Amino acid sequence: MKCFYCNAEVRWNNDYDTEDTYPDSEHDIVSMYNCDECDTWYEVFSHRKEEKNEHKNNEQNKKQG
Ligand SMILES: [Zn+2]
Repeated sequence: MKCFYCNAEVRWNNDYDTEDTYPDSEHDIVSMYNCDECDTWYEVFSHRKEEKNEHKNNEQNKKQG
């Protein structure tokens, strides 16, 4: 993948489970890349979640709040 800013090749760092990093994300996986040339970070969200239990979670949050 090329950097949007300086067109150098970006370096892959790691994949994270969005359960740990972005629980509200609509995707399961976030991949971290960075550009050594201009020190730009990229977070690429992939593996979109299928809709599941969203309504249940919302109702529970309302009751607790
Ligand atoms: Zn760059």
